[in-house]
Amino acid sequence: MLLNRNFLTGILLIFLLLGALYYSNYLSYSFVSVEQEELTAESRRVEVHVQSHELHMVAPDHLKYDQPSIVSGRNDVVTVTPWLAPVVWEGTFNPVLLDSIYKLQNITVAATVFAVGKYVMFLKDFLETAEQHFFVGFRVHMYVFTDQPDSVPQIKMAADRQLTVLPVPSSKRWQEISARRMELIQKLIEEKLRNNIDYIFCLDVDSKFHGRWGTESLGGLIAVIHPGYYRDNRKRFPYERRPESRAYIATGEGDFYYCGGAFGGMLQEVHQLAKTCRTNFEADAKEGIEAAWQEESHLNRYMWVNKPSKVLSPEYLWQDFKARNPEVHIIRFSGVVKNYAAIRPNVE
Ligand code: UDP
Ligand code: MN
Repeated sequence: MLLNRNFLTGILLIFLLLGALYYSNYLSYSFVSVEQEELTAESRRVEVHVQSHELHMVAPDHLKYDQPSIVSGRNDVVTVTPWLAPVVWEGTFNPVLLDSIYKLQNITVAATVFAVGKYVMFLKDFLETAEQHFFVGFRVHMYVFTDQPDSVPQIKMAADRQLTVLPVPSSKRWQEISARRMELIQKLIEEKLRNNIDYIFCLDVDSKFHGRWGTESLGGLIAVIHPGYYRDNRKRFPYERRPESRAYIATGEGDFYYCGGAFGGMLQEVHQLAKTCRTNFEADAKEGIEAAWQEESHLNRYMWVNKPSKVLSPEYLWQDFKARNPEVHIIRFSGVVKNYAAIRPNVE
């Protein structure tokens, strides 16, 4: 009996020792293996997909492109925010390099656009020019929200691009159409996009693409600088100034004035933004207050607290009626000139 017990204890000890030896080996192995292992194209793709898109970028081997510099480049504009997010201007990025990096990630980009009432007339140009300039060569899924599904024009789309029409009710107030966008974007992400889409952009329909809008615009939370105010002192920004509103930003506060007509980022980020803006908008409405520029005011408040991870210069939403400033080397997306009285359901 005694011998038997000693024998068992011995076996147990040997197992314990072996286990400890194996574990320490495993630890040291797993630390060095990432650096030592040569990745094949296939394993690299899998690796990229598993990790978060924004941790670090993986480029294809032996890609040829212009040498980058840290001493010469754009010196007429600021290309980084005080919280060190890039500000994307023409000349700050290499489209070939970025496209190659994002090709490895096999991404899908969604875009939402609302065309309610007379605004369906903008769809044709919007969709046709998107086909020429918006994420060309990548998988793109357009979501068109409209009260007139039959009026959505048939656009010839590339094989990796598709369009889904989603019916929404008509409205008697443009403010309501504009404001409900956040709710519908939130629901779209919750009900249809989860797990299928990597990035999403939410865009105004009364606009056209004129130049590349691509992978350089990707990131966690993406805001676009409004073309109308970017040279102004922030005290002149049309933020919501009444402290009763949840969109309130005091004089002397705020970073930039961002557009309500274009924003985006990774799905979870845009979901959080849409949900927050919607909740705050509805809580305001219950107290009888509508922010100065509806969801644009709430978006500005959100982006002030939640700093965007990348900021797009006004190249990414210009206005056709505005003369081009010298620092704007290319206009990528621009709002068309429209007669508000003729196209909106109400004028005030
Ligand atoms: N919108 C719409 N029907 C309307 C009013 C607005 O579909 O009657 C949508 C449309 O997508 C539009 C967006 O809401 O681009 C924002 O409104 P608008 O473009 O008129 O605002 P602005 O850019 O002039 O501030
Ligand atoms: Mn617009």
